[in-house]
Amino acid sequence: MSNSKFCDLRGKVAIVTGAGKGMGEADSIKLANAGAKVVLVDISKDDCEKVADEIKKNNGEAIVVKCDVSKKSEVENVVKEALYAFGKIDILVNNAGIFPFEPFLEMAEENFEKVIDVNLKGYFLMAQACAKEMVKQKSGVIVNISSIAMGQVGVGFAGLTHYCASKGGIIAMSQAMALELAPFGIRVNCIAPGAIDTPGASAIKMDAKAMEAMLAPIPMKRKGKSEEIANAVLFLVSDESSYMTGSTMVVDGGWVAG
Ligand code: NAP
Repeated sequence: MSNSKFCDLRGKVAIVTGAGKGMGEADSIKLANAGAKVVLVDISKDDCEKVADEIKKNNGEAIVVKCDVSKKSEVENVVKEALYAFGKIDILVNNAGIFPFEPFLEMAEENFEKVIDVNLKGYFLMAQACAKEMVKQKSGVIVNISSIAMGQVGVGFAGLTHYCASKGGIIAMSQAMALELAPFGIRVNCIAPGAIDTPGASAIKMDAKAMEAMLAPIPMKRKGKSEEIANAVLFLVSDESSYMTGSTMVVDGGWVAG
């Protein structure tokens, strides 16, 4: 009988962006518990230090790298630090994202650019920098966190024109990346979460009526937990999903099926 665990990441090195809180925190802890050495990347270093402490408390390995994913030089530094600490990069979870609500008719050009810079260009920069290393070892996995705000079979969100554009862009970009990277043994997949209970989402002021309206189209009538997204991330970064690339996994309590 084989002694390998389901979703075994022992010996793997993973980079997670937006690792300081919310889904990125849950992803990082889940990956570390599965045996991966984790590079915790976030614009706020303090939050990541707490996540690193948690991982180390459970005998895991983690380093923290402060980085604004929209800045190429800072992204390049993440790769440098990862290689210096752990010698290779096997996994990238592109998760850092912002979702500032703003009416379309009043949306300023610089605010549109900011969201695209972080949510879409940031994913591109991180993926390209990591893939250049993965190509050398002819293996790697990239998971890009999109959203059910991705368009097409997803749902539209008023007040988030820039965000919806970025999340749809992530899906299209990931499919193109999957085609170009498959010959190098690198898989690229997306997760499209529905409404997930995170610090970022909780910061959006919503009265009881608005909350009820948001939950109404969700068949499971509740928000998801970060850990429920982390479970999907774990599956997609592990060998258990070895025949999946260019696909999008929707994790939304049934919202888009409704
Ligand atoms: P969150 O609670 O706000 O956490 C996001 C983390 O990313 C924060 O630590 C944030 O730091 C960091 N970050 C922001 N801008 C960054 C940058 N330029 N460079 C590096 N790190 C940066 O968010 P979340 O709800 O967990 O969302 C994670 C991802 O899931 C995002 O891509 C989001 O769009 C997507 N998503 C969320 C939901 C949901 O309902 N929560 C649904 C679908 C998709 P600061 O807090 O210091 O800014």
